[in-house]
Amino acid sequence: MDGQRRIEEDFARVGRWVARYFHHPEEFRVFPEVRPGEMLAHLPDRAPEEPESFEEIIEDFERIVVPATTHWNHPRFFAYFATSADPVAVMAEALAATLDVKAMLWRTSPAATELETAMMIWLRRLLGLPEIFTGAIYDTASVAGFTALAAAREALGLDIRRRGATGRDLPTLRIYATEHTHSHVAKAAIALGVGHANVVEVPCDERFRMRPEALESAIRHDLRSGMKPMAIVATVGTTSTTSVDPVPGIAAIAQTHKIWLHIDAAYAGAAGMLPEYEWLMDGCEQADSIVLNPHKWLFVPMDCSVLFVRDFDQLRRTFSLVPEYLKAGDDGVTNYMDYGIQLGRRFRALKLWFVFRALGARRMRETLRGHISMAAAFATWVAAEPGWEVMAPHPLSVICFRHAPAGMESEQLNAHNAALLEAVNATGEVFLSHTVLNGAYVLRLAVGNQRSTLEDIDAAWNVLRRCADSLEAIKR
Ligand SMILES: *Cc1c(COP(=O)(O)O)cnc(C)c1O
Repeated sequence: MDGQRRIEEDFARVGRWVARYFHHPEEFRVFPEVRPGEMLAHLPDRAPEEPESFEEIIEDFERIVVPATTHWNHPRFFAYFATSADPVAVMAEALAATLDVKAMLWRTSPAATELETAMMIWLRRLLGLPEIFTGAIYDTASVAGFTALAAAREALGLDIRRRGATGRDLPTLRIYATEHTHSHVAKAAIALGVGHANVVEVPCDERFRMRPEALESAIRHDLRSGMKPMAIVATVGTTSTTSVDPVPGIAAIAQTHKIWLHIDAAYAGAAGMLPEYEWLMDGCEQADSIVLNPHKWLFVPMDCSVLFVRDFDQLRRTFSLVPEYLKAGDDGVTNYMDYGIQLGRRFRALKLWFVFRALGARRMRETLRGHISMAAAFATWVAAEPGWEVMAPHPLSVICFRHAPAGMESEQLNAHNAALLEAVNATGEVFLSHTVLNGAYVLRLAVGNQRSTLEDIDAAWNVLRRCADSLEAIKR
């Protein structure tokens, strides 16, 4: 067989596997039945010396890899944040890998550069963000957030980019967040030399939202002590409960004290495209930077995180460093390598373009609405069932809840719900995760896969009640 036919046949084989995967999720356990080290034991301890056939490789993929995979793309995956990779975006990834461009300079891929610019405009319009914001694509919210905070540090005018932060007299820099802020903010503080201890946890209200008056007093306290506020991080859709910090009040404080305001909307930002959720982005027009993850709730596979910045050039002033061999002299172009630490960049805009076109904005909105209403239905079932309780407000598509049989102390309840989660996930039928709220261990059901239906949510509810019953039976 000639080389071209070979590729066609191998691709057809992969295509059949992908199609089967998307259409027969019932053939896969959501959470694999494997013990740590078991997968590793199936693998030879070194690479083969001679080539192996594609047939053998793909067979081992099915035999070894798939059964040891936690299926994030399964419609009964409800843990962390449920996501979905649309088949069309999977194909875009194969094409992007085929072109294999390194989108660092405009001239290293005019298409990747200009499609990225166009997709950032499309996305900004879908979300209704003001035109002043310019976006770029990063791998994850962790890196996009780090990039924004690095820009915030440079904007202080302390000349840290040039002189560094050691061996000189600098004020203590402070970042304001809450206990519900995603941990990547603390990691950024570590990497940027701000220090973990200088991430201030501003107290929250009873709905897990930052309290603006507590933020104001924390800032005043720090200023009196001679410290320097560097950034405020507000979250639109926190990881534990999807609570939404009161951005308008926080933005007013940021403005008064001239502090960089970063908005982490990694998961919830997508809902900003729903007219009935316009309130979600209230105040975000005042922000300096906003992160949103299309790989969470916008149907593209890992990885794709978008950072919108008010003063986009501040990113360039923070990161641009061009060695001789990359000097290009192209006028009036964007060289995306200037806007972060990464040099070579993947052609991530391609999958956004495929998905936006193949689904269309209306269908995307309908899907998001469907997720929100299925999650609300689940919350109603939980609230109506004796011995079960909803544990947090649920503005979006994540429900925090627990099983609370009568007569258990809070320690027992925590252990009981941890055991329940273990039992539910061990079935392989559905997969959920947990968090802790005010000391209470709670289960989380996150809806976010475009192929999840009410039947899948119902299946989760049945597994939960079944496992809860058998745990109670054991105790009796
Ligand atoms: C998921 C999430 C993150 C981290 O996203 P990555 O892209 O995995 O780095 C950050 N913040 C919030 C609010 C999230 O939900």
